[in-house]
Amino acid sequence: MTYARPVTERIVVIGADAAGMSAASQAKRIAGDAVEIVAFERGTYSSYAACGIPYWVAGDIGDPERLIARSPDAHRLNGIDLHMRTEVEEIDLAAGQVTARDLATGRSYREGFDSLVIATGAVPVRPPLPGAEAAGVFGVQTLDDGAALLADLNQVKPQRAVVVGGGYIGVEMAEALVRHGVAVTVVDHAAQPMTTLDPDMGEAVHRAMEGIGIDVRTDTAVTGFETGRDRRIRSVVTADGSIPADVVVLGIGVRPNTALARGVGLPLGDHGGLRTNVQMQVLGHDHVWAGGDCVEVLNLVSGQYQHVALGTHANKQGRVIGHNLAGSYATFPGVVGTAVSKVCHLEIARTGLRERDATRAGFKYVTVTVKSGTKAGYFPGTQQMTVKMTAERLSGRLLGVQIVGYEGSAKRIDTAATALWNHMTVEDMIALDLGYAPPFAPVWDPILVAARRAAADVRRAGPLSVGSHSSGQCHDPEAGFAAVLRAERARRGDKATAATHHPSDGQVEPVRSGKRVRRFGRARPAHRRAGRGDLSADRAGDPCPARRQAGPDAAGSHLRRGGAAGPDVGLARAAAGLGRRDPRAAGGRRRPQRQAARHAACSSCRKTAATRPPRSVWSCTRTRSSTGCARPRRACGIRWFRIACTSSRCRSHGQQPQQVLA
Ligand SMILES: Cc1cc2nc3c(=O)[nH]c(=O)nc-3n(C[C@H](O)[C@H](O)[C@H](O)COP(=O)(O)OP(=O)(O)OC[C@H]3O[C@@H](n4cnc5c(N)ncnc54)[C@H](O)[C@@H]3O)c2cc1C
Repeated sequence: MTYARPVTERIVVIGADAAGMSAASQAKRIAGDAVEIVAFERGTYSSYAACGIPYWVAGDIGDPERLIARSPDAHRLNGIDLHMRTEVEEIDLAAGQVTARDLATGRSYREGFDSLVIATGAVPVRPPLPGAEAAGVFGVQTLDDGAALLADLNQVKPQRAVVVGGGYIGVEMAEALVRHGVAVTVVDHAAQPMTTLDPDMGEAVHRAMEGIGIDVRTDTAVTGFETGRDRRIRSVVTADGSIPADVVVLGIGVRPNTALARGVGLPLGDHGGLRTNVQMQVLGHDHVWAGGDCVEVLNLVSGQYQHVALGTHANKQGRVIGHNLAGSYATFPGVVGTAVSKVCHLEIARTGLRERDATRAGFKYVTVTVKSGTKAGYFPGTQQMTVKMTAERLSGRLLGVQIVGYEGSAKRIDTAATALWNHMTVEDMIALDLGYAPPFAPVWDPILVAARRAAADVRRAGPLSVGSHSSGQCHDPEAGFAAVLRAERARRGDKATAATHHPSDGQVEPVRSGKRVRRFGRARPAHRRAGRGDLSADRAGDPCPARRQAGPDAAGSHLRRGGAAGPDVGLARAAAGLGRRDPRAAGGRRRPQRQAARHAACSSCRKTAATRPPRSVWSCTRTRSSTGCARPRRACGIRWFRIACTSSRCRSHGQQPQQVLA
């Protein structure tokens, strides 16, 4: 979509890699001679793939030129005035000028702009420890870093290497060093490598690294670097002793390179990155744009800003900036946190929230972990993969997926990322039409198996219940509720170990140790029972509008998932003020926990007579286009959305609109 907007005449770009040159190239492609672009790069390469450095060091890519997507000359041929080895030292927003210094000659000069693009990337974290600058200690941020490390490996031929940091760059570099025949130790202060995964999944990475001979020291903090007389690294000092090292690679993360921006008071977020709107315009500054590793991004799952230094985002954000600079319109809405990596043959992938992220963001959730094959079980070469899936407990909305496994595992994360992007529930995911043939997948793809298990756990979890489940885990960080439960147990003098909490009325219904959850008795369908009165009268007091409207004939049918259980007489009784019936007193059969959970809430809107879902269920963020349902966005629970649409009560189908309004 384009709209009339005066085209920027003169654009200055700081930083000539992924974000900066994507922006410059896109603007030039669209606006042509209507824009004049001057770009500054303090390094020796433009538009190069830092992502390829570990594979270049490992020997997979022979010629470093192959990592360069577009040389300075290629950019100049496209009409971009690119100044290499030139550092921008100052920004003057009021005057619309930058001060640049040619690093070869030392000459400083000023350049004017109508619009400024800040794409200065990130700076690697360097520990302020003695010896950190010694010879033989390398970072791997730029192609020059990679070249220096490779030259050292070829000349010095080190026997022992220490990689500090077990993140994805540390892990990839460890593999690269192993392939040079070096004995590698990875040191990380966390409990497991790959802290972008939950620790239980990180453990699989740990084992795989040890499997290829890497010594992994977790929970270990580096306190210094010892050097020899030649001032070359000799060992890495940790709280648990020294680790001999002929070469050290630092991979302890990066932080946004925003010193220039901070100097002129541009807005920075909690993680030190520039804050922009969705068009990548720096907040409060219409003529300043920023993208790539120097900005913070919105995590669309948690709703929180974070710093995610990935080339995939830098390229997209650069393209968005270029479009907007050229008078077109594009947006970068945010990220869901997708990343893939590998260590030797083990593939690692993640998207969405880890457990700790979900807790921090206030979600109540279930997690499942499934092990499956990468191909049909009988097909030669099938390998194991592990999928961990997290879903919001009440709505079943997908929150995150992590995958660790062998060939063919990692890119399955894209299915999960797409589901996350579209706010799908795990129940929705079960029906996804994924490709199947024996050489590629089991008939139930591991992602679908995980979705099935997660959906079952969501159904089982019911409304705000605390307790263990037969598979998966139910996490409820509501510490206060535990106290309520204890008090209730003391009052009743029984041995309840789990309970169902009714937030609307504060009732706690304990579940006896070793017994199944039983909320409502089983009963014959209401319309068949004599002497129970008119249930439509009961439903008049029902807080669920769909049930109110459904009337006696619809009793039960609206309330069940899958139609397996009987009608929810307990609801009707509660609505009529009759209280709950003891199923044993009525001679009712015991119902397994799973069935009872089905009765615990209306499957459509998830309300019961006594229970209102927490706010998260009502924050349905599905777009209309994804379901064709035209109801107001915040008026429904995700599950209801689906059911309403298939039961011809949906407003978009024009039938009984009053039945679907909450
Ligand atoms: C070893 C490694 C492996 C990686 N692997 C992956 C991967 O597998 N997948 C993935 O998505 N991402 C990966 N990344 C991350 C990815 O490379 C970065 O996210 C991406 O390069 C960021 O692009 P950018 O343009 O924002 O910043 P950068 O690429 O850092 O570019 C910023 C440029 O600005 C220049 N600059 C800074 N300040 C100034 C100044 N004052 N004046 C002039 N020039 C300046 C810098 O010299 C630099 O060239 C990896 C990174 C590394 C280091």
